[in-house]
Amino acid sequence: MLDVQKIRADFPILFREVYGHPLVYLDNGATTQKPRAVVDAMMDEYLNVNANVHRGVHYLSQQATDLHEQARETVRRFINARSTAEVIFTRGTTESINLVASSFGQAFLHDDDEVILTEMEHHSNIVPWQLLQARTRIIIKVCPITDEGRLDMEVLPTLFSDKTRLLSCTYVSNVLGTVNPVRDIIQLAHQHNVPVLIDAAQAAPHLPIDVQELDCDFLAFSGHKIYGPTGIGVLYGKEQILEQMPPYMGGGEMIGKVSFQHTTFNNLPYKFEAGTPDYVATTGLARALDYVGAIGFSAIQQHEQELTQYAREQLSQIPGMRLFPPSDDAVISFLVGNIHHLDLGTLLDRLGIAVRTGHHCAEPLMHRLGIEGTVRASFALYNTCEEVDKLIAAINRIRQMF
Ligand code: PMP
Repeated sequence: MLDVQKIRADFPILFREVYGHPLVYLDNGATTQKPRAVVDAMMDEYLNVNANVHRGVHYLSQQATDLHEQARETVRRFINARSTAEVIFTRGTTESINLVASSFGQAFLHDDDEVILTEMEHHSNIVPWQLLQARTRIIIKVCPITDEGRLDMEVLPTLFSDKTRLLSCTYVSNVLGTVNPVRDIIQLAHQHNVPVLIDAAQAAPHLPIDVQELDCDFLAFSGHKIYGPTGIGVLYGKEQILEQMPPYMGGGEMIGKVSFQHTTFNNLPYKFEAGTPDYVATTGLARALDYVGAIGFSAIQQHEQELTQYAREQLSQIPGMRLFPPSDDAVISFLVGNIHHLDLGTLLDRLGIAVRTGHHCAEPLMHRLGIEGTVRASFALYNTCEEVDKLIAAINRIRQMF
């Protein structure tokens, strides 16, 4: 069992007040709060270790490089990659997916080749493919969702053809909280010799990820959604595919030898890490993953699923409530009567409750649902049933105003 009060003590921001109310932070799908251990580790590195990595012979540079590479090993362990060569640091999920679209696209996607996406993707798993489309005439096929908010697994197999080169889909929907059957999807794609990219932005904070067990070819996640710093994320890729992909950006770090006639590139993962990396953020990310690892996903999942189920039950009793299923995990989207989502979100804020409103960077999904936006409550390991009760009471109060 998770000792939530002990955990909350690690997150100073949770003790703030907003408009005279104790903060109820339910916007964890957008970004999570940071435990003191993460911020302390980063502050310590800036104040006591700081030097550029991989470049200096001097003591501080060696120490900073050690911390940076230890962080890579921490990420490797966290996702159970075979080697640190498969762990590329990026600015986040968005950059990870853009890297694949650009570099894998250049190597493997030619005119008339096909990429399969799904109707529940975040814009960051749609637009990079459209940008590629502007350069190469690839075809984007989209797996629809059912009325229950799940991928239509009857349609998906029919989307493959001998032109399909990649399937890219989210593990957990940031709007509907759907946990997709990614193992089945990966197996199906592999039967067609199609590699798979998993967007794990909303999965990594909530469920254990084992890239070898999943057998995904790429996987992306962001540090800031898993209690780590902003501006750092991860792209995992299978070594034999990454080896065949050209660099994404050029600059320092990613080269072997440079001349005006001929330049060679560095080994993995550095080939994809041009320029000075955010080596302080990698330390912070490693601390965040250690923090989550010390609590353990079985306790986290049990707590968050109890919380999600409780919230679903309580919300469903509010007259006029429209829930957008299935909310398998930590994310609940809803609308109440004909109150505009923005009004509801703004009024909840005045009562100290932070939720997300709008299209959640998933406009195609909004079109499918026939709406403009929702209110989204998303949970983290430090949220409590009392906070859900405050959300319910606040919605009821606002409902009476309308
Ligand atoms: N994919 C999903 C499913 C997300 O929820 C998000 C963030 N809302 C992203 C990708 C993009 O993550 P980031 O902005 O950290 O790059």
